[in-house]
Formats: sequence, C-alpha cells, structure tokens
Amino acid sequence: MENLVIIGSGPAGWTAAIYAARANLKPLLVTGQQPGGLLTTTTIVENYPGFPQGIDGNDLMVALQEQAKRFGTNVQYMSVVDSVDFSSRPFKITVDGDVIEAKSVIISVGAGHRHLGVPGEHELENKGVTYCATCDGALPIFRNKPLVVVGGGDSACEEATYLTNFASEVYLVHRRDSLRASQIMADRTLANPKIKPIWNAAVEEVLGQGEGKVTGVRLKDTVTGETRNLDCAGVFIAIGHIPNTALFKGQIDLDEAGYVQLKNGSRTNVEGVFAAGDCADSVYRQAITAAGMGCAAAIDAERFLHS
Ligand code: NAP
Repeated sequence: MENLVIIGSGPAGWTAAIYAARANLKPLLVTGQQPGGLLTTTTIVENYPGFPQGIDGNDLMVALQEQAKRFGTNVQYMSVVDSVDFSSRPFKITVDGDVIEAKSVIISVGAGHRHLGVPGEHELENKGVTYCATCDGALPIFRNKPLVVVGGGDSACEEATYLTNFASEVYLVHRRDSLRASQIMADRTLANPKIKPIWNAAVEEVLGQGEGKVTGVRLKDTVTGETRNLDCAGVFIAIGHIPNTALFKGQIDLDEAGYVQLKNGSRTNVEGVFAAGDCADSVYRQAITAAGMGCAAAIDAERFLHS
C-alpha cells in the first residue's frame, strides 16, 4: 500500500515528490513514457528562477529528479498508467499491468501541444519550429528576423506580442478573419505595429527541410484556395494544448477541454486525489507555476493523509 502515488514526471510531479519525500511519505512516482515531460524536448530554459544563464530543459528535470530521489522518492521509470479506479479507497492504479494500491494520488500528467500536422512541422522542430515563445523566443536564430505565429487565441496573441521584443516583424497567421482571443488581448495585438495579421490563412507546409532550418511557410488562403510562400526564420505554433487526461475521464471531474477541475487548492472532486501542473492549468502553463502547483499538491496530500 503506497501513501502517495504521483503520476507524471514534469516539474509538477518532481516538485510534489520532493515535498512529499521530505515529509517522510515515501512517495512512488510513475514517470510515464517521457521522463521529465515536455521540458526535456526544449533546449535552454531562461525563465526558471535561479539560473541567471539559463539551464538546459533536460538538465533541469534531471536535477529535480535527483533532488526527489535524495529524499526517498521511489521512481518507476518508463512506466505508463493503464487505468485508475478512484471509486473506492484504497485507490487502484494499474501500471504496466500491475495494480498498485494507494491512499492518495497526485495527477501531474501535463499537456501536449496541439500540432498542425503539416509537412516540415515535425522535421523542423527545434530548428525553427517551436510551441513556446517564452521558452525559445529569445534564441539568437530568431533575433531581428521575420517570425510566424500560428493561431488566433490568447496564446497566439501573447506569443506574438512577446516575440516583437526580438523579431523584425511577426506575422500572425490565423485560419479565420477574426481572433478568438479575449477582446483586450486582440486589441493590444492588432495595435502593435510589429504584428502583421494574415487572415484566412492555413499553413500547408513548413519550408526549409533541405537547409535544416525553417526558411518559410507555404500558406493557403482558406477562402480563395490560393497558395503563396512567406519567408520567416521561425514558426511558433500556438493552436492550443491537449491535457493528457483521457485516462481520468469518468473518474474525476474534467472541464470541456479536458483540464482537471480543481477546488480549494489542488483538490479534485475525489477526496484524496489531487492534481498539479499543466493538466490542471489552462492559463499559465509555465515550468515554475507547475512546480508551485506540485508543491501545493504535496502539502495538501500530506494534510489529507495526516487527517
Ligand atoms: P484556444 O483559445 O483554444 O485557441 C486556439 C486557436 O488556434 C484558435 O484561434 C483556433 O482557431 C486555432 N486553431 C486550433 N486548431 C488549429 C489548427 N489545426 N490549425 C490552425 N489553427 C488552429 O487556445 P489558447 O490560445 O492556447 O488558449 C487556451 C486557454 O488559455 C484559453 O482559455 C485562453 O483564454 C487561456 N489563455 C489565457 C491567457 C491570458 O489570459 N494571458 C494566455 C494564454 C491562454 P479558431 O479560432 O478558428 O478555432
């Protein structure tokens, strides 16, 4: 019987493990198929406090993991949760076919970037294609270059605005002729002289595979069907996220987009089940906010277990 099982190994999961282990709960952390989560797919992380020169995303996750293990976290590497049963206690978590019983659970399974699914997108990832302006926007390859942001929501507006700090100009490519973003964000974005909206346009291909880096995009007008090429050094795809919560559907309350619904801190609707990080946060989605949520979930779990 485990005191606490932590599902997921991003900043939320490892931070929860650090706090729970230091509270002597001897937590078990199940990493999932990609230990360290999305941050391991990025390069330098420049906005995590405490690293003035930035830190490699993978190195950061390895450091958090070592810190969690140092205080007694048990880790099941590369293990995937097949199913959960939160209908009665102890909770049952099936991991690679084996059933683990747990008094409490922290769900920190993260979210994945929604992808365009066009040629060149996958091939040029980290070579000019990125899903996070705050992570990658300041990289030298993007400085004083034209950049493309794809999407019409708050994320796309936020990313486009942020990128004006570095780019020569930012093309905001949206498949319709009006933004989905909140009015204030849309107004601010469209008033920015460095942001040039391209309406009714879909990215058909990211160009540059021959050069090994992004050189442009091929756009298709969604009204006329005409295509054209647009030169750029980077493509920032901001068309939403998909929380990795399909596994928990029917077990805990999720919102329409699949994010875990929290109440009173990190608590879900099932007593003893907590959630932290991007799977429960559609707004901030930063490594540091996920880590903070992981800390809160561990404290809430500890209090639950002691009560
Ligand atoms: P979102 O609101 O779902 O917007 C996604 C955008 O991407 C939409 O404009 C959508 O187009 C477009 N899109 C989706 N799939 C596409 C595809 N396959 N090809 C091309 N375009 C595609 O996602 P989000 O902007 O990430 O925001 C998610 C949530 O976080 C929202 O609730 C948002 O308010 C919140 N958020 C808040 C802030 C803030 O307040 N500072 C910042 C970021 C996010 P359509 O419009 O045509 O559907």
